[in-house]
Amino acid sequence: MPTPPVTLRRTDPALAAALERSTAQAWTLMAGIGRATGEPAPGITRAAFGEGEEIALQAVLRHAAALGLEAEADPFGNHHLLLPGEDGQAPAVASGSHLDSVPNGGNFDGLAGAVAALAVLAAVRASGLRPRRPLRAVLFRGEESPWFGTAYLGSRLMLGRSPWAEIGALRRRDSGLTLAQHLAALRHAPGPKTPLDPAGFAAFLELHIEQGPLLESRGVPLGIATACRGNIRFPQARCHGAYAHSAAMPRGHRQDAVLAVAELALALDRFWQERIAAGDDNFVVTIGEFATDPVQHAMTKVAGEVAFTLNLGGTDPAVLEAARGVLAGAVARIERERGVRFALGAEVGTAPVALDAGLRALLAGCAAEAAIAAMPLPTVGHDAAMFALSGVPTAMLLVRNAHGSHNPQETMAEADFARGVAVLARAMLRLADGEASGTASGTTSGQD
Ligand SMILES: [Zn+2]
Repeated sequence: MPTPPVTLRRTDPALAAALERSTAQAWTLMAGIGRATGEPAPGITRAAFGEGEEIALQAVLRHAAALGLEAEADPFGNHHLLLPGEDGQAPAVASGSHLDSVPNGGNFDGLAGAVAALAVLAAVRASGLRPRRPLRAVLFRGEESPWFGTAYLGSRLMLGRSPWAEIGALRRRDSGLTLAQHLAALRHAPGPKTPLDPAGFAAFLELHIEQGPLLESRGVPLGIATACRGNIRFPQARCHGAYAHSAAMPRGHRQDAVLAVAELALALDRFWQERIAAGDDNFVVTIGEFATDPVQHAMTKVAGEVAFTLNLGGTDPAVLEAARGVLAGAVARIERERGVRFALGAEVGTAPVALDAGLRALLAGCAAEAAIAAMPLPTVGHDAAMFALSGVPTAMLLVRNAHGSHNPQETMAEADFARGVAVLARAMLRLADGEASGTASGTTSGQD
């Protein structure tokens, strides 16, 4: 994307002062929402399409209304804060994130990006600027997967990436009610469930807390995401061997399922180390569950069966395919050598999603202008991925986090939040004033 010319607006003292004010207010708003959604302890809980999410939404809408921002709901209960541009027909430059959380999560995952977008719109409005394109802050519902067993519900439905008939029938795991029932109870979005046209978005920028420790460990406040990792997952893998006496069975006669899965894990770990040695730190391997059968296992028995999960992640489809090859080769070899049988079970997963190179460069340029350090790094799946898959030029700004996400210890410094909002504001205004809206996102073959 040809970067739009630097406008004077980014150095407008009225805008700078307004942004400082709106950022501080957004931080206070976020803290208040955290206190209001802190039950049950520890951490915060904002159930998707449910109570905590609704508390957050109403607080954000009250704050936005007090600042004179218009709001509207879409058919799926997401809310949009609007700031008109000079060109009423132009597609919007949008930012935002989700209001729900995982159970007993941290306060910043999702909410920080929602209130950051609000802070930008509030500052632009307060300073009296009128950009060419409209600005839009999107407050998504239902991004986290623990509630309905699948992620990005609000953005997926809004952009028409999943049919309502299918998703509306999903049941929330705690309540047992369907998404359609939860949405009806919220009374925000009656009427036909027609998705929005992605062409209405010129660009989407999502600010989000980093979910890992990389920025903290490098001493860098901001990250610019290169891609959302995709994954190949086997949630119900098994290795079948044979139970035997621990003292009597010689090694050559054993069909030890524990050692077989351990050997598989190490084969994948070796591939991972080779990727790192080759300068690629985008690939990850996780065996999050590894269990012998408690009914049959014993200290004095060779394990005849192991149940495990296998989760391969990466930003490059070719690397994921190479990992699949390593997995298949290791399975065949270990079966032969150890007399076991692997049943990996159903495979699920998502394709990696590349983020827009032009917008990444724009964010990097805006950070450099503001003398804020930022580094590129891959990220996980977010609402932003749904925009990228829909052909909307999309990028993500990540904010340093001392303790990782999806836990009560998640931490963001107010100064880092302010740095993120400052870069986001510059980039949004540049896009709103510029002639170009970004290159088409380099998405890989998309599947949710
Ligand atoms: Zn999130």
